[in-house]
Amino acid sequence: MEITELRPGLHLLQPRFGQAYLWRDGSSLTLVDTGIAGSGEEIAEALTTLGHRRSDLTRVVLTHFHEDHTGSAAEIRAWGGVAVLAHRLEAPVIRGDVPGPPPDFLDWERELHARVASGLPPAPPCPVDHELDDGEVIDFGGGARVVATPGHTDGSIAVHLPRHGVLFTGDTVAHVDGRVTLGVFNLDRERTMRSFRDLAGLDTSLACVGHGAPVTGDVPAALKAAARDFA
Ligand SMILES: [Zn+2]
Ligand SMILES: [Zn+2]
Repeated sequence: MEITELRPGLHLLQPRFGQAYLWRDGSSLTLVDTGIAGSGEEIAEALTTLGHRRSDLTRVVLTHFHEDHTGSAAEIRAWGGVAVLAHRLEAPVIRGDVPGPPPDFLDWERELHARVASGLPPAPPCPVDHELDDGEVIDFGGGARVVATPGHTDGSIAVHLPRHGVLFTGDTVAHVDGRVTLGVFNLDRERTMRSFRDLAGLDTSLACVGHGAPVTGDVPAALKAAARDFA
């Protein structure tokens, strides 16, 4: 698996499909998203490569229920001592209590989805240990604030680390072919755009996106410029 250091203590992990981010506070690790089902061993190997053990992983924060983000959550939680956190509107889907609502596809997205996403393994149901609310602060990264970003899914979240200027965007933001853009396969595209514009208001110098290379530098300017293209 490809491991990329973004900052000291922050790595991008790229399993076969999907992206995960590993944040370190001392010896305690937080994983944001997990990649698809079956990525657990690869992620464990990445921890070893980085000089950690499985037992260093304290929590997994899930940005939303899609299988390329939550696929390995159950497997990783089974290591023991790992709490899984997700927004309260996503939790019933992640637990497998209700099916996830399908995206409201644009015509061109339908073809893309068939090509890149339709063959992905479903995410095995996973207990959610802590249901998150908008504005809640999670105890990592000097205080990680949950920012509700409804639209891509109802309970999509971003996680903002104001002290570090780091933002985990989930699929509200993508970075494709060098372009910062709205994520695809949204439940409600208009609402996703509003959430995207909200993220542009956060003080951020490194945006860890759901798909594509992290966005660095003046992230608010990059997001605002991208938002002008929505119309
Ligand atoms: Zn998604
Ligand atoms: Zn995704």
